[in-house]
Amino acid sequence: MKSVTVVGCGIIGLTSAILLQENNFKVTIVAKERFDKTLSTKVGAIWFPFEIEPKKKANYWATIAYKRYQQEVNKENGVSFIPFITAYNKESNTDWVKLLPKKSVRKAENSQLPLGIDKAYISTVPLAEPLLYLPYLFDIFIKNGGNFIKQEINNLEQLSSLDKWVINCTGLGAKKICDDKNLHPMRGQILRCKKMNIPSFADSTKRGALSYIINRSNDCVIGGTDYENDWNKNIEKSDTNLILDRINKVGLKGKLPEVLEEIVGLRPKRNIVRFQFDETFSNVFHNYGHGGAGFTVAWGCAIELAEIL
Ligand SMILES: Cc1cc2nc3c(=O)[nH]c(=O)nc-3n(C[C@H](O)[C@H](O)[C@H](O)COP(=O)(O)OP(=O)(O)OC[C@H]3O[C@@H](n4cnc5c(N)ncnc54)[C@H](O)[C@@H]3O)c2cc1C
Repeated sequence: MKSVTVVGCGIIGLTSAILLQENNFKVTIVAKERFDKTLSTKVGAIWFPFEIEPKKKANYWATIAYKRYQQEVNKENGVSFIPFITAYNKESNTDWVKLLPKKSVRKAENSQLPLGIDKAYISTVPLAEPLLYLPYLFDIFIKNGGNFIKQEINNLEQLSSLDKWVINCTGLGAKKICDDKNLHPMRGQILRCKKMNIPSFADSTKRGALSYIINRSNDCVIGGTDYENDWNKNIEKSDTNLILDRINKVGLKGKLPEVLEEIVGLRPKRNIVRFQFDETFSNVFHNYGHGGAGFTVAWGCAIELAEIL
């Protein structure tokens, strides 16, 4: 059996590890944090190709992932398909719409638009609730014979020496490991709130004024911020107020959401996702820098990775 080590235990590391197991590799995951302490555990997580490059490739991965999620739907693991209203304008890249099954997407009628939004699509898309989905994936990984080792990796040489093949899924952690100047944080603050009776939607048409709601089984996530190069991991009350103010304008009629938790995460944003063998350490394959769309593309990347390996 061929042996491979995946470094990283977020959504990218877990999906990569499982796909490699499905292709008869013996897989070890090495990570400084288990899945329940990663960025991946904190977020929405809805299928939407947001802030990820290159767009064409990301849309391709997202389409493959969409199909995998269709097979994953299950109440217990947190995967479902939900209606999602996505605002767009003439600057928006909406190529992803053309890749969805025809029955799953249409233009929203005026009566369906949240206040202040002129044009939108309504699509049926995967939702993978991380608090259920990540433990489920980790369980599958262990049941498939996987081994988890908690360890921090400091540089590429150390990473390369871990195994015959090593997959680098360290998200923003790759900045230090690879001294990667093309990788930077995009800070997102979100609010986990009590469930509300309004549809899930996203308006990402205005930079600096991101606004969305994701209804989940037991709560809803309201966002957000999209601050480039911002390493601040503290909760900012001013951001909470901005998020609530924007969401109020789409039609809550003054009834503010009940906030259960304020959360900050740093999206691993790169000029393009690094999805390739390392130029110096040829046994290392990089799979990081998925920006605001790790859940959206993870299975697509994992499937292509297994084919390459
Ligand atoms: C507010 C917010 C909302 C978001 N909403 C969505 C959404 O709705 N849909 C969506 O698709 N995406 C969303 N995203 C993006 C998504 O969360 C990320 O793209 C995704 O979590 C990245 O996954 P990852 O596995 O690469 O990184 P991580 O989850 O950060 O995992 C990295 C792993 O690498 C390990 N690691 C790092 N450095 C080292 C090291 N030196 N040594 C050893 N191990 C190391 C960590 O311990 C961890 O296990 C959102 C992001 C934010 C911030």
